[in-house]
Amino acid sequence: MKPEAAALSAFMTAERREFHRHAESAFTEFWTASRIAGFLAREGYEVRIGREIMNPEYRMGVPDEEVLESCYRRALDEGADPAIAERMRGGFTAVAGILRNGPGPVLGFRFDMDAVDVQESGDADHLPRKLGFASLHEGVMHACGHDAHVATGLALARLLASDRDAWRGTVKLVFQPAEEGVRGARSIAESGFLDDVDYMIAGHVGIVPDGTRTFYGRVSGFLSTTKLDLHFTGRAAHAGVNPELGRSAILAAAATALQIQGIPRHSGGASRINIGRISGGTGRNVIPEHAFLALETRGQTSEINEFMASEATRIAEGVGQAYGVRVRIEKMGEASDARSDPELARIAAACALEAGYERAVEEPLPLGGSEDFSFLMNRVEARGGKALFVVLGTELADAHHSPRFDIREEDLPLGALTFALLAGRLSAGEASGR
Ligand SMILES: [Zn+2]
Repeated sequence: MKPEAAALSAFMTAERREFHRHAESAFTEFWTASRIAGFLAREGYEVRIGREIMNPEYRMGVPDEEVLESCYRRALDEGADPAIAERMRGGFTAVAGILRNGPGPVLGFRFDMDAVDVQESGDADHLPRKLGFASLHEGVMHACGHDAHVATGLALARLLASDRDAWRGTVKLVFQPAEEGVRGARSIAESGFLDDVDYMIAGHVGIVPDGTRTFYGRVSGFLSTTKLDLHFTGRAAHAGVNPELGRSAILAAAATALQIQGIPRHSGGASRINIGRISGGTGRNVIPEHAFLALETRGQTSEINEFMASEATRIAEGVGQAYGVRVRIEKMGEASDARSDPELARIAAACALEAGYERAVEEPLPLGGSEDFSFLMNRVEARGGKALFVVLGTELADAHHSPRFDIREEDLPLGALTFALLAGRLSAGEASGR
């Protein structure tokens, strides 16, 4: 390994472990985002924080004030810079760095930085446990590799800042909160911060766990999705003395759960629907006043997903009426469909091989899941820019969101180098512009 490559690898591994230790879930990334902001400033970037790049009206599924505040305090206790963290208070945890390098295109890169609500494995052979960098936080873990994404973003920031001859134009590095549950990207899209971006790029580690160093240059088939919370409110009554006075929220919730499985399949393409949680009631002899359903819909296109979500909503409201129960529906997350640009994919694949990947695939890789980067892709594309989502293949110790999830740290530099090379080629005008 060349000395620079060894230094990059050491830097990324150390950073990844720090972020892994301080895992923070959606909209509570105060420690994480503060550290990123400090780093970007030191590397010479103009830093944007919180409301400057987030439209508050489009945040979804934000934790309640108490949770936000206690996570904020925790971040300060763990050494977050108070002057920076203050600007994120209340869950405005997005950070971006802007670096200007003469005339040329505007390049956007997105890195998500939130952890998953999973309790990290205590197994002695789980590497983060063995080496002492397991999550400090109960029930929160980087079980999806977003710690690696943050390390990749910092490495890219450093590579671009330290070699300004390798690229030109303007780069905007965006660190997004709350990708899990697809809650954070839309508020960034709606802030307009990325409206001048010509090329918008993001990636995800792992996904295809075949153990090879394979770069998938063109992810497509993002499912559009909507996450809904349904709150049912009926009327409590004594189940023996006067049940006729009650209105059962549980019955309404249960009937809704069954009825929505009967939404017809859409002829336009694949769809999904799932009730992930159901709860309600207080005691055996009480007609239950409250019940709760957490559901999600997905569709191959935004139109199909919209059909699933609006049918689910219509059924819930109709069932509520039938049972005399009030239904309040809250949107907790959302992502649209999106397609990666084939020309960008071809250039990115060439960069990946140059960076050291063993294999680079240009054919579309269907994601089969959802990712709210789609909002940023669509926003940029709607204004004439191009967008790309890639997969940075590596070995995984276990599946995404598993308590034993882990990545192969030696592969970390590959993604950062690929993005840096891509910035060079795109700014040299290799892809057709807008
Ligand atoms: Zn993820």
